[in-house]
Amino acid sequence: MHPAKDIHVLVLAHPVQGHINPMLQFSKRLASKGLKVTFLIPISTKKSLNLVNASSIQVEYISDGFDNVEADKLSIDEYLDHFRLSASQSLRDFIQKHQSCLENPAKVLIYDSFDYWALNVAIQHGMHGAAFFTQSCVVSWIYYLVHQGTVKLPLEAVDGQGRVVSDPPAMSVLGLNDFPSFVIDVDKYPAILKIVLGQFSNFRKAKWLLFNTLSELEEELVNWMGNHWSMMPVGPTIPSVYMDKRLEDDTDYGLSLFKPEAEACLRWLDSKPPRSAVYVSFGSLASLGEDQMEELASGLRSMKSHFLWVVRESEEKKLPPNFMQELELGNDNKGLVVRWCNQLQVLSHGSVGCFMSHCGWNSTLEALSLGVPMVVMPQWTDQPTNATFVVEVWKVGLRVRANEKGVVTGEEIESCIDEIMDGERGKKIRENSLRWKETAKRAVDEGGSSDKNIQEFVSNVVDLCT
Ligand code: UDP
Repeated sequence: MHPAKDIHVLVLAHPVQGHINPMLQFSKRLASKGLKVTFLIPISTKKSLNLVNASSIQVEYISDGFDNVEADKLSIDEYLDHFRLSASQSLRDFIQKHQSCLENPAKVLIYDSFDYWALNVAIQHGMHGAAFFTQSCVVSWIYYLVHQGTVKLPLEAVDGQGRVVSDPPAMSVLGLNDFPSFVIDVDKYPAILKIVLGQFSNFRKAKWLLFNTLSELEEELVNWMGNHWSMMPVGPTIPSVYMDKRLEDDTDYGLSLFKPEAEACLRWLDSKPPRSAVYVSFGSLASLGEDQMEELASGLRSMKSHFLWVVRESEEKKLPPNFMQELELGNDNKGLVVRWCNQLQVLSHGSVGCFMSHCGWNSTLEALSLGVPMVVMPQWTDQPTNATFVVEVWKVGLRVRANEKGVVTGEEIESCIDEIMDGERGKKIRENSLRWKETAKRAVDEGGSSDKNIQEFVSNVVDLCT
């Protein structure tokens, strides 16, 4: 009998795509090592979720409090406050029921560090907490320093070279504008700033700190942070079929807030020569201005490569008039626009040679792990920080630069994509990407750095529960 067989853990995800995906994958890894996992998502019944494949774990929906409240009438502050109050009550109710019904209820709650209130709920119910950080170590370290008051807001350079943080040395690659947007524009999203800093308000009470990264990628930060607290990099959290192939049926993230147009994408990609297409996506939340959409559309239309562009339904109205019509009329099958796709399927398709991305952390890890060179166009939150590391440290992409009006022109986009697809720098970047792909695979394969940490976490949980 597997030693972990009857041991149950609860996992609480934050209900946005970029937070659900990594925790869901981590849960599947735990299940593959014998733990029984119940995966909780606070979400209103009004939102539809596409559950594709997560059979090794049990998914449960708990209320986010928005069943009878019009979320779009609230400010972000009001929205987040309401979410926190409702979701914490739902979590309490769930745990109480769970504890009264089961003989061996879960003793561990793994929670998204953005929902740090969940740790208090776990402790009140006699459980241990494991914080799961879905962002990079660099970004988490910055928020920690700001929370501690070591780095003061507004940010200021501390030396003549414009550095804001010089320890560990890896941080010195970041200029003032490369810091996460929430600590630069401090007045823009105060409620989100409170959350990202709040992650560190109670984290020392968590028994484990799990990070969706791999030691090799952020080695210096992982070592540095490891001197301050005990942490476990467990990533990249990407379906096994793309990595070590040890988990049967783990071919997809499995839980999507948007409906992917998978077939149309595959059909289109299959019709393209190897490495001839650019995949363009800005993730699940970022929103581009109308001017920017127009420049992007013009750059994509005039470049040599084919393109597959994800424009979410809420962004569609910003596409230039006639753009779709012209695409359809053109007989060269130059581009395809979809509302959502299965990103991993697209990135791993042989016809894709470049990923034009907002540099969300999952997208970054996916590009690295699948070996796809990037053109990065960060928008907000942690994206500028990720983009700096992509270009300067891991050397797997080029960054487009905005003009004096803050817009990235079509010519700039076209020239960066051409350089990646055909240029000398592109060749070097592809080589680096392929090296990272191997490193990432090794990290999650048997005995790799992240696999060992996952195994250690499971052993800790088993010891605690037996
Ligand atoms: N994604 C997807 N299809 C799309 C666009 C994105 O499946 O058309 C997935 C992508 O694989 C990633 C997640 O959505 O896992 C987005 O997370 P990320 O951290 O990159 O960006 P965010 O959406 O949080 O800004």
